[in-house]
Amino acid sequence: RAGAETRPFQAEVSRMMDIIIHSLYSNKDIFLRELISNAADALDKIRFLSITDKAQLGEGDTAKLEIRLSLDKEKKMISLRDRGVGMTREDLVNNLGTIAKSGTSAFLEQMQKGGDLNLIGQFGVGFYSVYLVADFVEVITKHNDDKQYIWESKADGAFAISEDTEGELLGRGTQINIYLKDSAMEYLSEEKLKELVQRYSEFINFPILMLETRTEEKEVPIEEEEAKAEEKPAEEQSEEERQKAEEAKEGESVEVDDEEEEEEKKPKTKKVSETITEWKALNDNQALWLRPPGNVSEEEYAKFYKALSKRDWEAPLALTHFKAEGDVEFKAVMFVPPTAPHDLYDNYYGKKPSVKLYVRRVFISDSFEDLLPKWLSFLVGLVDSDTMPLNVSREMLQLHEGLKVIKKKLVRKAIDMIKKLADGETRARKEAEEKKEEEAAKEEGAEKSEEQKKREEAYTKFYTAFGKSLKMGVIEDTSNRRRLLPLLRFHSSKSPDKLISLADYAERMKEGQKHIYYLVGTSKDEVARSPFVESLVEKGYEVLYMTDPLDEYVMQNVHEFEDKEFANVSKEDLKLAGKDDEEKKLEKKLKEEFKPLAKWWKEALGSAVEGVKVSKRLATTPCVVVSSKYGWSATMERIARAQTL
Ligand code: ADP
Ligand code: MG
Repeated sequence: RAGAETRPFQAEVSRMMDIIIHSLYSNKDIFLRELISNAADALDKIRFLSITDKAQLGEGDTAKLEIRLSLDKEKKMISLRDRGVGMTREDLVNNLGTIAKSGTSAFLEQMQKGGDLNLIGQFGVGFYSVYLVADFVEVITKHNDDKQYIWESKADGAFAISEDTEGELLGRGTQINIYLKDSAMEYLSEEKLKELVQRYSEFINFPILMLETRTEEKEVPIEEEEAKAEEKPAEEQSEEERQKAEEAKEGESVEVDDEEEEEEKKPKTKKVSETITEWKALNDNQALWLRPPGNVSEEEYAKFYKALSKRDWEAPLALTHFKAEGDVEFKAVMFVPPTAPHDLYDNYYGKKPSVKLYVRRVFISDSFEDLLPKWLSFLVGLVDSDTMPLNVSREMLQLHEGLKVIKKKLVRKAIDMIKKLADGETRARKEAEEKKEEEAAKEEGAEKSEEQKKREEAYTKFYTAFGKSLKMGVIEDTSNRRRLLPLLRFHSSKSPDKLISLADYAERMKEGQKHIYYLVGTSKDEVARSPFVESLVEKGYEVLYMTDPLDEYVMQNVHEFEDKEFANVSKEDLKLAGKDDEEKKLEKKLKEEFKPLAKWWKEALGSAVEGVKVSKRLATTPCVVVSSKYGWSATMERIARAQTL
C-alpha cells in the first residue's frame, strides 16, 4: 500500500505469532471469542466516555453501539466491525505489535510447557489468536482523535500501517478483515459463525449482528403483456396445466360478484426466488445478573462464568448471586474458579480484583481497586450498582461512600460462599464416618456416595487453589479474621495426609488440654520428626503442622480459637495439662541435679543464648535450642534474615 510504514514486531510478539500461526492441534474456535471480546471492550470504553461527553458518540449509525459480522465467500474473508472507541495511529503501533504485554512471555512459557492455547485471553494477548485461522489480517480503525488507518500483517515478523484514504469510512470504530487460511475454510460459513457466537459470546452486552444471506420464494406482480408471454402455447401445456387454465377461465365467467371483481383488478403474480441479505441478531444481550437468582439455571451460571473468566473448559466451584437493597442498591454475581490463575500469587499486592463494576448496566471498570480486598482477588464476577452516580470520573467514583458499603457486603457474601463449601465438606465427611461405623457394625464395607465425595472434594480443591488467599485474609482483614479462621486447614500429627480444621482439632482435644499445639517448619517431614512434637505425641496430644511460609504470619495475628489459646511447641513456656504431684517432684529433683551442668553451659555459650534450662519436654532427644516466649521462632528468623539480605 502506498505510504505504508512497515515495522517489525517486538521479538517476543513475533515468536508468539509464529507459534500461533503454525499451531495445528489447538482449538481454533476461540479466535472469534477473543475478537468479539475486544470489540465489546472498545464499545464499553466509548460508552463510558460518552457519559461525560455525549458528543463522543457521534450521530446516526456511528452512535449505534453494536458489533457486526459478515462473510465474503469470494475473498474467503470474515469481517468483524465494531463502533467502539477505535485506535489512534499510536494505539495501533503500541497495542498491536511493538510493545510486548506482560503476559506475552508468560504465555510463551506456558506454550513451551505444552500449555493450552485456549488460555490466550488470560494473558492479555487474545488479539493474536486471529492467526489461528488467518494468514493475513487487516485492522481498519478510526478513533475520534485521529484519522482512519489500516494495520496489516501476514504474521511474517512485520506489520504495516498506512492512512486509509480509499476504504469505506467507518465514522468511528474498528473493522477487522480476516483472510482465512486454507486449513480454516470451515469458518467461511454463517452457520459456523452463528454457532460460535452463541457458544462463546452469549453474554456480550452489545448486540452482535450477522449479515445473513438467504433465498426466498416470493410472489411478484406480472404485467399483462408479460403474463401473456408467459402463457405457454396450448400444445406445450401438460394435461394438468391445461385443465387448470380452463377451470380458471370458467371461474371468471361464472361467478361474478362485487368482491370477485375487486380481485379481478389485482395484477397477476408469479413466484420468483430472491436473494435477501439481512442483519440478524445472534445474541439477546440480556443481563443475567438482573434476573432474580432463583430464575437462573446452573447451566446458565456456568456459561456466564466461562464468558466472564475466559476459561471455557471448566465450571466454577461455587457461586453467589444476590441483590442488595437499602441505601446502596446493587446486584452481584461472584464465582470461585476451580483452579488458581497462573499468576495469582506472583504479584499479590499489584493484583487487581477481577470483579467488574457496572453502574446501571454501564460498564465502568474491570479492575476497580477497593471493590474487593486483595485477598479476594481470585474471585471472578460482576457488580452492578443502581445507586452510584454515573456522570463522574472513575477517580471520583473510587471515592464514593457507597463503594465501602458494596465492598463490605461483597466480602461477607464471599465468605458465606466459601463457608458453604467448607460446611459441605465437613458434613459429607461426618456422614461418611457415621455410615462407616454403622456399616462396620453390620460388617459391611462402607462406601461414600458420589454426592458426598463431590462435596468433600470441592473444599479440598478450593483450599489447594486458594488457601493462601484465606491466610492473607486472616492476616490483613482484621474485621473478618474471626470468620476466616474456621476456614483454614492444616495437617497434624494425627492427620498427616488429610487436612483438618481447627474445629476438628478442638473436638478431639485431650481432657484438661487448654492449648492448641502447633509447630512451624519447612516441610511436613521436618515437623513430624521434630523432638518438640515427639514428646507431645507420645503423651497423646495432637500437634498441628504449619509448613506453609504464611502460617507463621497467620499465627502472629491470631491468639486463640474458640477460647483455646494457640501454643507453639518450640517456645520455652510450653505447659502441658495435668501433671501429677509425683511428676512435679521428679522434675524438681532433676532440675536440682542438673543445675551445675546448665550453669556451665550458659557460661560456655555466653550471649549466644538467653539461658539454659532443664526441660521435661523431650522424649529421646537429649537437648534442643528453643525460642523464648517473646522472641522470634526459628522459621521467622529465617524469613527475616532472608528479607534483610
Ligand atoms: P487485551 O484485550 O487483553 O488487552 P488483546 O491482545 O486482545 O489483549 O488486545 C490488545 C489491545 O488492542 C487491546 O487492549 C486494545 O487496546 C486494542 N484493541 C484490540 N481490538 C480492538 C478493537 N476492536 N477496538 C479498539 N481497540 C482494540
Ligand atoms: Mg482481548
